[in-house]
Amino acid sequence: MQIVPKIDIHVHCNPFPQYGLTNRVGRRWISPEDLIARYDKLHVQLGVLQAIAAPEDHYDQLCSFTVQYTADKYPDRFIWFAGLDPRAVDNASTSDLTDILRQYRALGAKGVGELTANLWADDPLIDNLFYYCGEEDMPITIHVSPKQYGFYGLADDIGLPRLEKMLKRYPKTKIFGHSQLFWAEMSGEVDAITRTDYPKGPITKEGRISKIMRACPNLYCDVSARSGMNAFTRDPKYTYRFIEEFSDRIMWGTDYCEPDVTYPFEFDEFLTSSVERGDISFENYYKIVRGNAERLLHHS
Ligand SMILES: [Zn+2]
Repeated sequence: MQIVPKIDIHVHCNPFPQYGLTNRVGRRWISPEDLIARYDKLHVQLGVLQAIAAPEDHYDQLCSFTVQYTADKYPDRFIWFAGLDPRAVDNASTSDLTDILRQYRALGAKGVGELTANLWADDPLIDNLFYYCGEEDMPITIHVSPKQYGFYGLADDIGLPRLEKMLKRYPKTKIFGHSQLFWAEMSGEVDAITRTDYPKGPITKEGRISKIMRACPNLYCDVSARSGMNAFTRDPKYTYRFIEEFSDRIMWGTDYCEPDVTYPFEFDEFLTSSVERGDISFENYYKIVRGNAERLLHHS
């Protein structure tokens, strides 16, 4: 099969891995150099570096200038999203975020993310952030969580009704959905336990993702991390239909944080073999691993 130089829609790394804290299990962020070595094996040409502005989950944040620094150092391998916490400026739902977003864009940021603040998805601060991202045409990557406190990411109920409300209120805002909670909704059979896990098995009842995707053209799928791979590999037949229907709004990614994970290679193998068998068309595969990101981020 013809090799496509992929774009990884969601990744993290630290250009100064010798500095800062480890995470809670003593691990450090992957360095750009280690990441590029893995990219070369996976045929990834370009990674979209996601900053992390909020303190939830991470002892140390990945602020915007660290990802900007990495992208400037390796301009052929990385572009970046800015870390903008919804509490920025005045910690108020009336904060004007125009200047911040315009400055980030002038510095080269292609979007905002990863949004990990643990507020309800329709909190007035989040509402305000989504509004300004739409006004300034900055796509935003979100991590979804089950509730406020004890988690990181936008909190939403089963079925993601609050996210849907925001998508409908701000149709100009392009939201890239991601995380276990988001991807558990690939199936209509999801409960309080399975939504925080990696649910397995065939999908017998259509999930909310498909329904929200149909209702909201501004929702995009970030198929990164183990959660994205799990959602796409648990029931391949369902996945092939999903790809057929939403091929213009699905983007492949890794969510590399640490060096020694293997799922990006497993997922790559699944997609490649599906194309070789004819279960996914080459045209759709190209869109998922490169074309959609290129179009959305105006980057080629
Ligand atoms: Zn991430």
